[in-house]
Amino acid sequence: MPEPPPNIDAKDLYYRLFSHLPDCLVVVDRQHRVVLSNWRGGFEDVPLDKRNGQPPCAAIFHPDDAIPFTTCPATEVFLSGRPTTREFSNSHIGTLECRAFPIFDHAGEEVDYVALHICNISDRKKLEKGLILCQKMETVSCMAAGLAHDFNNLLTVVGGFGQILQNALTEPRLREAAAAIIDAEERARKLVERLMMIGDKRPEQSERLNLNDLLRDLEELLIPLLGSQTKVDLQLDEHLDNIRGESTELEQVILNLAINARDAMPEGGRLIIVTTNLQIEEHTPLHDQGIIPGPYVLLTVHDTGHGMDDLTRERIFDPFFTTKNSDKGTGLGMSVVFSIVKRHHGHIALQSSAGKGTTIEIFLPL
Ligand code: ADP
Ligand code: MG
Repeated sequence: MPEPPPNIDAKDLYYRLFSHLPDCLVVVDRQHRVVLSNWRGGFEDVPLDKRNGQPPCAAIFHPDDAIPFTTCPATEVFLSGRPTTREFSNSHIGTLECRAFPIFDHAGEEVDYVALHICNISDRKKLEKGLILCQKMETVSCMAAGLAHDFNNLLTVVGGFGQILQNALTEPRLREAAAAIIDAEERARKLVERLMMIGDKRPEQSERLNLNDLLRDLEELLIPLLGSQTKVDLQLDEHLDNIRGESTELEQVILNLAINARDAMPEGGRLIIVTTNLQIEEHTPLHDQGIIPGPYVLLTVHDTGHGMDDLTRERIFDPFFTTKNSDKGTGLGMSVVFSIVKRHHGHIALQSSAGKGTTIEIFLPL
């Protein structure tokens, strides 16, 4: 053990070091009894009478898991004498990384104890997920842009010849067939436009604009879009700051979110759109989620619809992911929203569970 300078009480220093470690450190014996722990890193609330000497330690640290805990890292270290690392989820705390290492006897032969260093990696996991999503979107957007470009050229041919046919034909049945070709071409072109938005690499052409003005202009459109059974409620901050952005793109974001809300409320409900100013400070939960600190405008779109299950939430931004049948959903709405928000250097957050409605928050920097 490294010796501190003689004027420092080593025992006291090691004790304090142990107690002040921000992560949880636990030492267990061969019976998996907790012989020492600093009860930090989310485990502060373990009641005093449960803390020590109650085998197995799994009953204290991950009571949700089946006991005996078959993949116990401490068991592995006692058997192998080598360190190991595991990840597991705790329903109260989040994703935890557990690094277990042996504490040998004085002869350095037998493992007397195992120390478990438990660290909350929920934020890191969230960031990793965000990064994977960004990379996936980048790949897909390159593909989408290339495909959309070529497809658009083909559509010009289809539409052009469809028009020539329609003009040349006299028999009504054949004219109708030509009209159907033109109609399909127009619908396909709209789809292509959305695909192009995913891979949009145009230089930014942003203007100073106020989201409230945009929402007030859109309100007339939103009310009939949502239908008479749904109440549209705009709660706009009168002192909302201006942002830099492209109004047509931001309109597209609001419309896509509103259409999804409508589809999630077939029997009607409420669509609440809120705007507010927000200052994101350093080392706050939002900063930890990867949002750069600074002044933002926050747009919140909330619906009282059927919400989403875990799988839908995981895949919502994937292009072509849809839970709707093919005449209703293309699965491009949310990927377009994601691309536009990223183009505005913004951030998007989602809260939704089955049966509980959906809240989507869009943070747009000033
Ligand atoms: P589409 O609407 O064409 O299906 P989107 O990309 O807009 O594609 O949405 C993908 C999926 O996400 C939808 O099919 C739906 O399952 C889910 N979703 C999006 N918004 C909501 C919402 N407000 N409420 C419930 N589910 C939603
Ligand atoms: Mg949609």
